[in-house]
Parts: sequence; structure tokens; C-alpha cells
Amino acid sequence: MESLKDLGLETSVETREDFVNFRVNPRVVVYPRSEEEVVKVVRYAYENGLPIVPWGAGTSLTGAVSCEGCILLDMRHMSSILEINDVDWFVRVQPGVNLEFLNRKLMERGFFLPPDPASFFLCSVGGAVANSSGGMRGVKYGTFRDWVLSLRVVLPTGEVVQVGEPFRKNRAGYDLVHLFTGSEGTLGVVTEIWFRIIPLPKEKMISLLSFMPDLDSTAGVIQDMRRAGILPEIAEYIDNEVIVALNTQLSAGLRESRGGLLILRVEEHDLEKMREILGKWHGETSILSDEEWERIYSLRAQSAIALKAMAKEMYVEDIVVPVSKLVEAVRRLKELEEKYQVKMPVIAHIGDGNLHPNILLKDRRMADELFEEVGKIAIDLGGSVSGEHGIGLQKARLMGLQIQRHSGVKVLEIMKGIKDLVDPRGIMNPGKYVELAYKLMKQGQNE
Ligand SMILES: Cc1cc2nc3c(=O)[nH]c(=O)nc-3n(C[C@H](O)[C@H](O)[C@H](O)COP(=O)(O)OP(=O)(O)OC[C@H]3O[C@@H](n4cnc5c(N)ncnc54)[C@H](O)[C@@H]3O)c2cc1C
Repeated sequence: MESLKDLGLETSVETREDFVNFRVNPRVVVYPRSEEEVVKVVRYAYENGLPIVPWGAGTSLTGAVSCEGCILLDMRHMSSILEINDVDWFVRVQPGVNLEFLNRKLMERGFFLPPDPASFFLCSVGGAVANSSGGMRGVKYGTFRDWVLSLRVVLPTGEVVQVGEPFRKNRAGYDLVHLFTGSEGTLGVVTEIWFRIIPLPKEKMISLLSFMPDLDSTAGVIQDMRRAGILPEIAEYIDNEVIVALNTQLSAGLRESRGGLLILRVEEHDLEKMREILGKWHGETSILSDEEWERIYSLRAQSAIALKAMAKEMYVEDIVVPVSKLVEAVRRLKELEEKYQVKMPVIAHIGDGNLHPNILLKDRRMADELFEEVGKIAIDLGGSVSGEHGIGLQKARLMGLQIQRHSGVKVLEIMKGIKDLVDPRGIMNPGKYVELAYKLMKQGQNE
């Protein structure tokens, strides 16, 4: 790619894989160091009609960074924290900054950015914004979508816009901040982000570990917790297969528990009620010291990595159901396990109804079928085929189905219209997400 080199940018030629082994086979990788350099590359791609795919840290779980013959825009060098504003309560950053690093810097100043995808020690904030990632604190603090105030974006034409402004209350026009957040790199390249930040909580938090009899009882705990008006900071679940993976791969030394582990963090005044609920559902509960909590939080974050090391290849599901439907969702997942004679190890942000049943790949055709059936449980129960990992390639068909069933075809048409308006040559992370869902719908494949 001679002429791109003439632009004086750092490049390499290499193939990559994302975390779940989707192939990334670019014609060239470019490493921009500034917004001006991003503009140069995007303009070049636009003029030559070449596909271009932004890359944060490649921890995506849905094929969102996969490509054949694209220009891969690796954002790692654009990783500065530009401003921490402790009066207006925002932080302004470049997209390549690592999320854990950013939060360490914020915490030194008494603030934090709450969403914590379990990949926080690996992922870039640009990737987390593009995926509108969630995480373990999502039950209380939501996903990245709730924390982005403003974005600078290089559009697929090479023009630069800033959407939103660095304050919370702003009614000036359509909400483009939330359009670009979660757009999976299909509408432009994010080059600067203003995040809302908040002071570190001052209430005393209590961390609980509860060995549960089964996943059904865990769902029962979560429903009772909600009825009691308890809003936990964290309500996470891992089943016994995941405990075994953590013990085998990371020498975690956790006690095995047939019914899995519920990990909770609640405000001190909710402790007694929480213990009562856990007791009702036969949870065997202990209170963790701060040190033990740090260890369990870190093990929970590494659960998918441990499981992947056991499975070599796996599909990570990401369905959401209304919390009132959790027990029903768990029952239907069990029926699928029986039907396919497989065990799907479950990691769950169970507090907000977000379940990650993992499908370990042995028979790919069967895994594909099972993956679709799991997604359909969410659709049937009025939930979503993705709460936080996004759609990429893997879930486009299911997303199309969800939108058709819950919202109507017109909504998918509006989304496709937006893509065409912003990206008239169809070069920005093409062939995925809305574009793919629309194409499959047109081909009648969304049934
Ligand atoms: C072990 C593990 C645990 C995980 N746990 C969670 C979890 O708890 N919750 C959760 O939500 N996710 C989770 N994930 C998924 C994933 O880590 C997150 O979605 C993550 O935030 C993606 O960040 P990234 O930097 O790796 O992005 P990438 O994978 O590099 O990219 C993701 C998407 O963002 C786009 N993109 C990247 N940078 C830009 C940019 N500057 N401008 C425009 N588009 C861009 C890419 O094109 C792609 O579409 C997990 C992943 C792993 C491997």
C-alpha cells in the first residue's frame, strides 16, 4: 500500500485474532498518533473506497473487529488523559487509554468512572464506548452509554464533528452522543471522549460471598432483593464450571459449589435484610474482608479468561431478560442443555438480568444452533440479544429478529438510513451490525 505510506504514518502488515478467535486480516495496520493522522487515513480510505476498521485492544467478543483486506486503525498511541475537571466533574481522554489506568488516575483524585467491563485491565476506553460496554457495577451504574457526555468523531468522509458537550443537562437537538456510543465503529472513529465522573462512594460497603444451592435460587435472591428495594453495587454469579476453571487455570483455591457462587456488594444498612433473603434461599453466606473482596473481584474479572483457557474456543453469550423473567430464563437455559446434552458454564451480571452462558466449541454446527436458541430465549421473554458485548457479526441475525419482533421493521430501516447518511460509501467497519441485520432481513433470513 504505497500511497498510504506516502502519508508518513506508522504502519505494519500483520494478521490478528480477537479474543474469541475471529480473524482480522487487514491489508495494512495504521497507528495514528493524532486526530489529524486519523483524518488522513479516513480520507484516504474514503477516496479509494477501502474498508476501514478501528481497533482498541481487540477484546471484542462478537467479531466486531474482524476484517478481510481492511485498513485496521490501531488506536493504541492515542492514549493520553487530557484533563481531569473536578468542578465540572468530567475527564477528557483520547480513546486508546486503558480503562484500569484511567480509573487509577481518577481514584488518586477521589473520583471514578463506574462502568467496569471484566476486561477493564485490557480494554481501551474507545472500544468500551464503541461497544457501550457494561460490567460488574452495571447493576447500579449502567453501561458506558450512561457516562459519555461528548465525543469528537472523524466521520467516514474525513470530516470531524463534536457531538454533545461536557455537561449533563443539554437539550440541543437529537441525541447524537447516544447514537455514536455503541455504534461499534460503524459510524466513525472516536478521537476524543468526555466522560462524566463522580466522587468515590462514601457509604460503607459490605461484600458478601454466598454458596448457592443452584442458579434458580440465585435468581430468587435477586428478585427478592429487588422487591426489598436493595440496589447493590455488584451482584455477580459464577457457576461451578467457572469455579473449576478458575481453580485449574489460576490456582484460585475456591471451594467448589454445585450451585455456584453469588458475589454481592451492598451498603451497610442493607446487610441484615440481604442476609435474611440469602438465608431464605439457602445461601451459605460469609462477609469478606477488604483484601478478600479485592481477590474475589479480580477472580470474577478473570472468569472468562480462565474458561477460555479450558475451552480453547468458545462463544460468549450475552442475553438480557427483565429481572422478573430471570427464573423463567434459567429454566429455559436448562431445557436447552438437556436438549443439546451440553453444559453451558454461566457467568452472569445477574443483578440486572444479564446472563453470559458460554458455549464451549466442540461441534461448531451444534454450537451455532444453540447460540441462536439462547438468543431467542431473550427475545421471547421481552429481553435483548445483547446487553453489553454488542452485535458485530455474530448477532446481526438475532438483532434483526429482536427489532422486528419488539419494535417493527421501520426501526431497522431508520437505523440503516442513518448508516447510509453518515457513511455514504459504506467503508466504516462494513458488513456488520445494523448493515448486516438489514441485509439479512431483506434476504428473509431473520425468521
Ligand atoms: C475477559 C473479557 C471480559 C469481558 N467482560 C466484559 C464485561 O463484563 N462487560 C462488557 O460489556 N464487555 C466485556 N468484554 C467485552 C470487551 O472487552 C468490551 O466490550 C471492551 O470494552 C472492548 O474494548 P476494546 O478496546 O478491546 O475494543 P475492541 O475489541 O478493539 O473494539 C470493539 C469495537 O469498538 C470499535 N472501536 C474501537 N476503538 C474505536 C474508536 N476509537 N472509534 C470507534 N470505534 C472504535 C471497534 O471497531 C469494535 O467495533 C469482555 C472481554 C473479555 C476479553
